Amino acid sequence: MIRATRRRRPRAGIVDVVVIGAGHAGLAMSRYLSGASIDHVVLERGEIANAWRHDRWDSLRLLTPNWQSRLPGYRYTGSDPDGYMTMPEVVGFIRTYARLIDAPVRTGTTVTSVTGSDGGYRVVTDRGQWQCRAVVVASGAHSIPAVPPVAALLPASLRTLTAKDYRNPGQLDDAGVLVVGASATGLQLADEIRRSGRAVTLAVGEHIRMPRVYRGLDIQWWLDALGILDERYDQVDDLVRARRVPSPQLVGTPARATLDLNALTARGVRMVGRLVGINDGKAQFSGSLRNHCAMADLKLGRLLERIDAWAERSGKGSEVAAPERFAPTRVEETPCLSLDLSGGRVGTVIWATGFRPDYGWLHLPVFDRKGRLRHDGGVVDAPGLYALGLNFMRRRKSSFMHGAEDDVRELGAHLADFLRGWGRIPRRAAG
Ligand SMILES: Cc1cc2nc3c(=O)[nH]c(=O)nc-3n(C[C@H](O)[C@H](O)[C@H](O)COP(=O)(O)OP(=O)(O)OC[C@H]3O[C@@H](n4cnc5c(N)ncnc54)[C@H](O)[C@@H]3O)c2cc1C
Repeated sequence: MIRATRRRRPRAGIVDVVVIGAGHAGLAMSRYLSGASIDHVVLERGEIANAWRHDRWDSLRLLTPNWQSRLPGYRYTGSDPDGYMTMPEVVGFIRTYARLIDAPVRTGTTVTSVTGSDGGYRVVTDRGQWQCRAVVVASGAHSIPAVPPVAALLPASLRTLTAKDYRNPGQLDDAGVLVVGASATGLQLADEIRRSGRAVTLAVGEHIRMPRVYRGLDIQWWLDALGILDERYDQVDDLVRARRVPSPQLVGTPARATLDLNALTARGVRMVGRLVGINDGKAQFSGSLRNHCAMADLKLGRLLERIDAWAERSGKGSEVAAPERFAPTRVEETPCLSLDLSGGRVGTVIWATGFRPDYGWLHLPVFDRKGRLRHDGGVVDAPGLYALGLNFMRRRKSSFMHGAEDDVRELGAHLADFLRGWGRIPRRAAG
């Protein structure tokens, strides 16, 4: 466990490294840089752990169990390792970390522009400028809700919310709700809104089905043990696709309940296919629901087979419950292909269609044709520029809290080497 230490704050204006964002990723990098005696500052537009404070819905808990909540030099040590943190608990966890590592965070400081300057970078904020050799972009992978263009065709009478705007069912009128997207977010919102008594329709595309608990252990335990979360970006066949795989259908509840489409159907949520268009005030859904569900069931079966084979090989199989198989996803004989959005039966559409980073302030030629940051495992295509926390950035776990440790160690070492090239730090300081 880390002990708090007091250090000299870097001089305002000139510093070796600017870290943008004081979420867990930026803080983990700050700890590395402090350990390597690298002068740096962490610029944060809001407060520490800002996204967890302001961008998530009220009832959200982590879907990763407490034993998995770990950052470099720090881990959950409470009495409920198998539980799932609430949002205030996550904020407390990250704030404590920032205090223990004595991170040089400037809160309330929004970065408005990063440009190349003097062989390094000029970072302009609403509170002055910084000149630095290197920049670590830790501003989050989930900043902007990714809303599909079809949203523009919705009838004006409808209320629309993104997963970032949604807080609780009290925000909604009594009419029905169409939730678009069936990953962790979409399922959790559909479940909560249905339990509040409203009619809910869920538009389902490609999804990843997982039980919360398998053979008596959290599914995250198995993914961890099998090394699935450690799979590296340079080992997968189709990295672009791997980075777009939706989040698994999981929820963290004290009951450790599984939340899948069958559970929602049993509660009265109506399943439809992917939202593909809106015509004359009517939502049009693709006929692919059955295929998507069959594919998710098939992949779940393969995952469980892989787990069972590993359990037998490793001897773990004799310590845990017997293998299980789950009922196939139930799909209506003829799922509805169209839903009237203008007659008043649906009052709100919620977009649970994913998120993307916001780089509106990054004025450097480091983007591909689709506006994605060009990087090799977080080493961005500009000397001294690094990213953290992106989906499958270096490993499958890169965007999760427990993924920061390995990525920060490797990227921090790369950054320290880069600064050595500038003669900025003594060779023995950065290890
Ligand atoms: C709904 C949801 C549930 C999740 N559940 C889990 C989970 O159960 N377990 C898990 O491990 N992970 C989970 N994640 C993934 C991930 O851990 C979080 O998204 C986490 O917040 C990412 O941390 P980060 O430090 O990379 O980015 P963030 O926490 O987003 O931090 C980035 C920081 O940068 C700041 N910033 C952004 N732009 C600027 C700017 N221009 N100037 C200054 N500051 C700026 C922001 O204010 C923010 O504080 C979840 C994500 C979402 C969206």
